[in-house]
Amino acid sequence: MGFIDRQARSLLLAEIVTGLATTFRYMFKTKATINYPYEKGPLSPRFRGEHALRRYANGEERCIACKLCEAACPALAITIEAEPREDGSRRTTRYDIDMTKCIYCGFCQEACPVDAIVQGPNFEFATETREELFYEKKKLLDNGDRWEQEIAQNLIADAPYR
Ligand code: SF4
Ligand code: SF4
Repeated sequence: MGFIDRQARSLLLAEIVTGLATTFRYMFKTKATINYPYEKGPLSPRFRGEHALRRYANGEERCIACKLCEAACPALAITIEAEPREDGSRRTTRYDIDMTKCIYCGFCQEACPVDAIVQGPNFEFATETREELFYEKKKLLDNGDRWEQEIAQNLIADAPYR
């Protein structure tokens, strides 16, 4: 660009006009950004978020302590202990997940024959300490109670592809 061209562009404020034109052009387009955390984007039904242990509608735990999830976990993040109840049913006495080891592969969910352990839609579970990421059975069951509606909908939406 020659000297005269540069001076002319400078005099006519060409860069500012071009910049403003770009601003006005995008001002009326659909926004690509969202105002997180007040707005959230859509999540796939297959999203693998925070773990949860589910219950049946009558409140009974789904988990039958078969330990398939523990065996399938490549990160050895799951620890289960189990005992038979007085009625002969088998239930866990301990169900821990070390979330600092978990790699969110979803194998535990895939292995479970009764859809008890699942990865729910919650991705907002950052903590300030490592200890808070050692999940025990109560925490996992509470997660299940909290997210049951969304989890059930996601399982139904994903069912045709499994
Ligand atoms: S998501 Fe994968 S790594 Fe995490 S607990 Fe389940 S099986 Fe283990
Ligand atoms: S969560 Fe599922 S796979 Fe794991 S022990 Fe319970 S029933 Fe078995």
